[in-house]
Amino acid sequence: MIQVMAPPDLHRPPRRPHAWLPVAAASQLLVGLAWWQWGWPAGVALLLATHGVFFWGVMKPGSRLFAPVLTRLPTREPVVWLTIDDGPSDDTGPILDLLDAHAAKATFFLVGERAARRPELVREIVRRGHEVGNHSQRHPQAWFWALGPRRMRREVAEAQGVLTALAGTPPRWFRAVVGMANPFLAAPLREHGLARVAWSARGFDALEPEPRKVVARIGRDLRPGAIVLLHEGAGHGRNVEVLGLLLERVAELGYRCVVPEP
Ligand SMILES: [Zn+2]
Repeated sequence: MIQVMAPPDLHRPPRRPHAWLPVAAASQLLVGLAWWQWGWPAGVALLLATHGVFFWGVMKPGSRLFAPVLTRLPTREPVVWLTIDDGPSDDTGPILDLLDAHAAKATFFLVGERAARRPELVREIVRRGHEVGNHSQRHPQAWFWALGPRRMRREVAEAQGVLTALAGTPPRWFRAVVGMANPFLAAPLREHGLARVAWSARGFDALEPEPRKVVARIGRDLRPGAIVLLHEGAGHGRNVEVLGLLLERVAELGYRCVVPEP
């Protein structure tokens, strides 16, 4: 893999997965106190405010409220980290060829059950020098943010098992489904030594079918150390085109596509 200068604490699995618990308890105690002291309008206002913070922590992909998250590489070098979610898919082969043609490396955040159906693609990703990350076992898109502790643990652990068996080494990075983390994600991440990765540049390529628009959006946020969010296998079938255009744009701007070293 291509080296990128990185401080040793770049890969940070959660260390205190239950740190949110006493904070949440204290905040609700405060709500009770305010209610008792100043009456219900103050109590309700504070209740809504504390729950607002909670939902912000869940819904905002870069939020560190419930687990540490990497949103960009701390470097001034002209490098970017391409992360490709939702595979393996029919796009994986053409994507690998494009990356080779541009001497680019990427991290593929794979879905466990899709990987189990296409084991040859997982091996090919690794053989060509790219990295495999964990993107849950079943990709429960609508409900990932609301999963309870047991289901969350299963989503992380099962994918980790499948991907480790196929890739030969355990994934080190986790990409939350739709980027959302809830209070129950940190514990299984810690258990498996997984660090959470969000992004700093995206073009909404899972929905946007026009590759030029996607690449223009990403281009606006390209800077040293940017983490680029891409997808494969989207219904509109144009993810490969997006990558082709993006790789050209990245080269024009003088960036190299790297994967952070362990
Ligand atoms: Zn996804």
